[in-house]
Amino acid sequence: MLEGLRRPLAFAAREGFAHLDKVRDLGATLRAATDRVLAVVPGQPSAPLFEWRRALDRFDQAARGERELLVARGLRLVAMLGDRPVLAAPAGAGSAPFAKPRPTGAWTDPATVLPGCGPRIAELLAARGVHRVGDLLGLLPRRYEDRRAVRAIAELAPVSDGERVVVRAQVVRARAVPRRFVELLVEEVGGGPRLTARWFHVHGGFAQRFRPGERLLLAGPLRRYKGQPQMAHPDVLPDGATGIRPVYPDIEGIPPRALEKLARAAVERYADAAPEPLPEALRTRLDLPALAPALRELHAPRADLPRETVAALDGARTPAHRRLAFGEFFLLQLGLGRRRGAARREPGLPCHADAPSALARLRAVLPFVPTRAQERAIAELARDLAGPAPMLRLLQGDVGSGKTLVAFAAAHLALSSGFQAAVMAPTEILAEQHLRTMEAWARALGWRVALLTASTPRGVRESLLALIQAGQIHLLIGTHALLAERVDFAHLGLAVVDEQHRFGVEQRARLREKGASGAAAPHLLVMTATPIPRTLALTAYGDLDLTVIDELPPGRRPPRTRVYVGPRARSRAYAQVGRALAAGRQAFVVCPLVEDSDKVDFAAAVSTADELARLLPAARVGLIHGRLGAAEKDDVMARFRARQVDLLVATTVIEVGVDVPDASVMVVEHAERFGLAQLHQLRGRVGRSPEADALCMLLSPRGGGASSAERLRVMATTTDGFRIAEADLALRGFGELYGTRQAGLPRLRFGDLRRDLALLAQARSEAFALLDEDPELVRPQHASLRAALDERAAERIFGEEAG
Ligand code: ADP
Ligand code: MG
Repeated sequence: MLEGLRRPLAFAAREGFAHLDKVRDLGATLRAATDRVLAVVPGQPSAPLFEWRRALDRFDQAARGERELLVARGLRLVAMLGDRPVLAAPAGAGSAPFAKPRPTGAWTDPATVLPGCGPRIAELLAARGVHRVGDLLGLLPRRYEDRRAVRAIAELAPVSDGERVVVRAQVVRARAVPRRFVELLVEEVGGGPRLTARWFHVHGGFAQRFRPGERLLLAGPLRRYKGQPQMAHPDVLPDGATGIRPVYPDIEGIPPRALEKLARAAVERYADAAPEPLPEALRTRLDLPALAPALRELHAPRADLPRETVAALDGARTPAHRRLAFGEFFLLQLGLGRRRGAARREPGLPCHADAPSALARLRAVLPFVPTRAQERAIAELARDLAGPAPMLRLLQGDVGSGKTLVAFAAAHLALSSGFQAAVMAPTEILAEQHLRTMEAWARALGWRVALLTASTPRGVRESLLALIQAGQIHLLIGTHALLAERVDFAHLGLAVVDEQHRFGVEQRARLREKGASGAAAPHLLVMTATPIPRTLALTAYGDLDLTVIDELPPGRRPPRTRVYVGPRARSRAYAQVGRALAAGRQAFVVCPLVEDSDKVDFAAAVSTADELARLLPAARVGLIHGRLGAAEKDDVMARFRARQVDLLVATTVIEVGVDVPDASVMVVEHAERFGLAQLHQLRGRVGRSPEADALCMLLSPRGGGASSAERLRVMATTTDGFRIAEADLALRGFGELYGTRQAGLPRLRFGDLRRDLALLAQARSEAFALLDEDPELVRPQHASLRAALDERAAERIFGEEAG
């Protein structure tokens, strides 16, 4: 946590404070980080830190010299505090005296002001991103248990199996079966029918807490075994402990009851201090409750709520839940909207070329007629490129929809206007493929094209760099190598990033900064084949405009997809492959990324290739993986294309975008390890050959469980990328699907992208409408909104992850 404060300080102080003004929202960042530290620093000794924190209030208005001083003082304090066990060491190590901080009643009070929250609990909470009382109130119950309807054992007959019940009973006896379970036998109060409860993996001493004759409540799901009622792992409550109980997420080391008490104390004392970011007019119009009553309902539901309301609470479907999710989405979209507004206000590099005639020249050199969807996309890009602001556009199109042509058309317009253009791909193979495709068209149009990757030989690189700088290369294609500091364009007008999900947002920005024309930013086109539902795309890439290619070139036949699950999967699949090869077809075998290690990856691919060579002795087997040099990869691909290789075993290097028209059979090993969207992209690699029906076989040799088989079967039933993305979203969640962090999506605390898409869309349109009226949020009724936004920005830049 101290690190969260040290990092921005150190960065700002680097090289004689050279970066002081480059850290966005430094003041807000420091204030937020300090508040977090203060939340766990034990009382007295942190007086200097409190003082420093007070001085930070003036940080934003302070003169430069004063800000430098503040940063320097902050660094000293951090160094000093670093020696303190409670901060430097993990939980429990500290023996420093703990003095309870005095509550100020503000939402930002450290959680330690609450009764029952000592330094140890504070540490455990802090590890979950809960530092202040306000954070604690943001930790919502994950369930609610209605313990008002207490039943006797005799009344359990109508209860269906698995339903949650609260049973009042008296203890008959408890016994421990060592290392297995503790069993409790209870009966009707006063004698009568009986019920057995079991707890597995509890220590034997657990059995001793029950005294025969004692009355208690057991809460949990009811099962029956041979007609006898049973409960596994019920909660044991003292007789009388009823009501509607919030159940909080588990935090290791904090007993659930303690957390419940803390949250209750927090809501009783602080709910009314909750800063309300949503303007009242907006809340009234959308019928959203204010934050304070929403929090009260969520943390301390009234005891007389109707059962339906409790069920709604339990299903996270109340107006209070909606309100929190909306608030979160709204702030997120406001942030995106502000970024987008700022980007739109930057000066751009308008392309003055006569688009209709330039595009006519392009069409004349193409080997095919562009689809209507391609034409539409090109027209949209042409409009952007001609405009005064930099283009910021996401081009989304299923695998094989022909995004390359659209990107090239944009480049051609930029080049025709006297600018240079750059295309950045995530792998060398892809960059080479772009080169092959675009070079032919570019040559015919008179443009000079070059390829720059990490494996471009030193000598070639030097002369390339000089040519790029002199403006002699018009179109530069490459990988991350394009981002290297020494790549310096004469006048870059357009940057194209292919397969965005492999790139971080930061790299996107770096490419943009290559615009050498003073302050003006080059146009940016981001391409992705990931079929993100529109609303999600607008969240992930909220500062980009969206163009969709919704049509495939004519003559495509989607591959048939078969799923092979279980131990015999491989031999059955490879028998098919053998038959296909015998019929003169070519096949891909894709091995998954086993870990984030290309070593393991490599080993898996090598052994698969060996095995296949044994299994299919007549086949000529090739192997391509990330460890090969560019020339070697090129060579393998060339031999595959020339049909000198029948079966190409590949690691995921071929995953995105590789275009090999003749291969019509694909096998995906350990398909259960891939996301469906990813499988869909892989599958798009085959099925481009007009003469043979393409076949895709998904193998899951070890089964991997029913849910993974079910997932894979979705692939067999549809070829619609959007349906697949939705299925994946429902089954795995957004983060898994697209890599939340990479996609630029913040982790959500209240909103759920599976449940709240409509709410998200609403939040977006409301946020953008509000920014239209008050772009800088300077109106008094937007002050708290602005403050909330600044705090979010601070947390995003240097903060720790919450939740
Ligand atoms: P992706 O959108 O996956 O990047 P590509 O741009 O690689 O797709 O195009 C896939 C294949 O379709 C390429 O072989 C390309 O030459 C071909 N193609 C693109 N547009 C058309 C078209 N309008 N008509 C016929 N073939 C096309
Ligand atoms: Mg592509």
